[in-house]
Amino acid sequence: MTLAIDQARLASEIEQLATFSDAEAPAVTRVVFTPTDLKARAWIKEHCQEAGLTIREDPVGNTFARWSGQDPNGPVVGTGSHIDAIPNAGKYDGVVGVLGGLEAIRALRASGFRPKHPIELLIFTSEEPTRFGIGCLGSRLLSGTLSANVASELTDNEGITLEDARVRAGMKGSLEQVRLPPAYYKAFVELHIEQGPLLEREGLSLGVVERIAAPASLRLTVEGAGGHAGGVLMPDRRDALCAAAELILALETEAKATGAIDTVATVGICDVFPGAVNSIPSKVRLSVDVRDTSLERRNRVLKTLEEACRAVEVKRRVAIQSELLNADAPAESATDVVSALRQACEKHGLRYLSMTSRAYHDSLFISRIAPVAMLFIPCRHGYSHRPDEYAAPEDIARGALVLAETLAALAS
Ligand SMILES: [Zn+2]
Repeated sequence: MTLAIDQARLASEIEQLATFSDAEAPAVTRVVFTPTDLKARAWIKEHCQEAGLTIREDPVGNTFARWSGQDPNGPVVGTGSHIDAIPNAGKYDGVVGVLGGLEAIRALRASGFRPKHPIELLIFTSEEPTRFGIGCLGSRLLSGTLSANVASELTDNEGITLEDARVRAGMKGSLEQVRLPPAYYKAFVELHIEQGPLLEREGLSLGVVERIAAPASLRLTVEGAGGHAGGVLMPDRRDALCAAAELILALETEAKATGAIDTVATVGICDVFPGAVNSIPSKVRLSVDVRDTSLERRNRVLKTLEEACRAVEVKRRVAIQSELLNADAPAESATDVVSALRQACEKHGLRYLSMTSRAYHDSLFISRIAPVAMLFIPCRHGYSHRPDEYAAPEDIARGALVLAETLAALAS
């Protein structure tokens, strides 16, 4: 079997997909179920059909492009990623795994390979939390991590529910039907840009992901008392922003105090009310994101943050409410899939790094129902979720080649 990845075609398709965007180039904004997202989906489906694949779309818009194997009812060997992009993002996050996966399948078909198991490309719906506030919607539903009932009630900023949004986008059936039957997959492999600097630093073009860190996110609301910035004297104040500042620094201290490099904590959003120069902040909303490869350590940080909230409430006479949005367990890659990836790298004389994914991906949720592993390629300076995100065409092509080789091994 000789596998030929068409690097130029793959690079040009990534450029074409980037033109489906609600931001000015080179930035890409593609939010789930917007007209732009739907056009991009239609474009990809057409390309999958041209490649000879059969399309199935589930009720939340997860899109499966299938190459039936000699045993069409056998468990599936899957690959894929997402094409939605947060506001003002780049061209490569998710897209490399979708178009790279398609190119890998094309290379396998052109080589004359005949899979025993079906091979499927999967385009996940809404990996990004932009619209409905929760990431990996499609894979959470596929794996049963999120129930159809809870999902259908999720709302966007305009009050539109996921249920309405998906029906308006033309998705048929009921969300109950999204969950995959047990043992649907034989294996699942996701190709993705690293979104960190390690591969570039090591001068390597491939990373085999052995575990995915456990994410948790919550929303904190701090309520104090507002007032005139001149009139209210310092001893009388219950400034919500000062209280929030203490929480942000407490979180940073706790994350550093675990002593583990894998513990990371971030406050990415701080909304201040009423937000006027001469008005004491009466209410602040913070977003908190904590991740770790150890569930126990991650949960300890959450617990100490909770304690910090109680202490700040007393000290500053404010009320702090915390709402846990998600707290997921980490995932270990499946040894079979990892060794298939390693062997594929070795077969082509390519060196790789064994690594941890600190960002989470749809594979984290698919790992609840299938043996999973991921393949990373470098992105320049580790930049991602920004317009200057960049992955070199030769790295993308190498990723697609190793993916094709891995799919072949798993589907034989
Ligand atoms: Zn991604």
